[in-house]
Amino acid sequence: MQTFGFIGLGIMGSGMAKNLVKTGFEVTVWNRSAEKCRELAELGATVAATPRQVVENCQATFAMLADPVAALAVCDGPDGVLAGMSAGKGYVDMSTVDVATSAGIAAAVTARGGRFLEAPVSGSKKQAEDGALIILAAGDRSLYEEVLPGFERMGKKMLYLGEVGNGARMKLVVNMVMGGMMTAFCEGLALGGRTGLDQADILDVLDAGAMSNPMFRLKGGVIGQGSFTAAFPLKHMQKDMRLAVAMGDGVGQPLFSAATANELFKRARGMGFGDEDFAAVFKAIRA
Ligand code: NAP
Repeated sequence: MQTFGFIGLGIMGSGMAKNLVKTGFEVTVWNRSAEKCRELAELGATVAATPRQVVENCQATFAMLADPVAALAVCDGPDGVLAGMSAGKGYVDMSTVDVATSAGIAAAVTARGGRFLEAPVSGSKKQAEDGALIILAAGDRSLYEEVLPGFERMGKKMLYLGEVGNGARMKLVVNMVMGGMMTAFCEGLALGGRTGLDQADILDVLDAGAMSNPMFRLKGGVIGQGSFTAAFPLKHMQKDMRLAVAMGDGVGQPLFSAATANELFKRARGMGFGDEDFAAVFKAIRA
């Protein structure tokens, strides 16, 4: 059985790492807040003291971190990923970050003789728990083949997209669409509510037609119940909109609705909804 490292046991990482452990892989984990390692340890994972130790213990290490700042933070310093990197080892960053962050980590890993893959995912908490993510990998092909048994436990569909950057690009495009859909959906519910329509009726009509989709179905329920426990934290959705809009800037692509949606998510963060589910943008729209 292969030995894998896993760094970052948040909403997504904990489900993904558990699936690796349950399969029988030897897994070494690290998380900034140590208490999140407890459940993994109970399942049989080894807990390392630093990211460096994870990388030193394992042939390949996965990471699932909040944002570019977090992805870089675990790499740097005497206890970081790069300090433990050596010839032939693999580092697979599954966080959603921008192309520059991913390319910077790739360059630093390969400068130490290591191999790098970016592999952001589509899907949320439930898909992470169920091993049903869509994995958007790009970078070192030999590492992709090597960690495929791990990907197969975490995902239902794997794509190899070529050079580093293509995974980040694909992920930001997909999430930009999702953020725009969510704001249009919430504006519809808010307008319907203010004009006296029943929310359940609106959801029913949407679900019966061409706009029917699992996200409207799931998040319609969340909004209806008014309970916004995070599956996908709103602060991460705003980060993805911000990074997508910046990517548009870089290539001169106007993104009128995404830029506006970014401002809405920013406002929702400012109102204190950052740690709630991204469906909480409804509350900012309604206010
Ligand atoms: P999360 O629950 O907020 O977890 C974030 C992880 O990053 C935690 O392990 C956290 O450690 C760690 N972290 C944050 N800042 C750090 C720092 N400065 N140094 C070291 N570690 C740091 O987020 P998540 O929902 O699992 O998302 C993880 C990534 O997947 C994000 O890039 C997100 O955009 C992406 N994603 C999320 C979803 C979703 O539905 N949730 C879906 C697809 C992709 P602590 O525990 O110590 O805070």
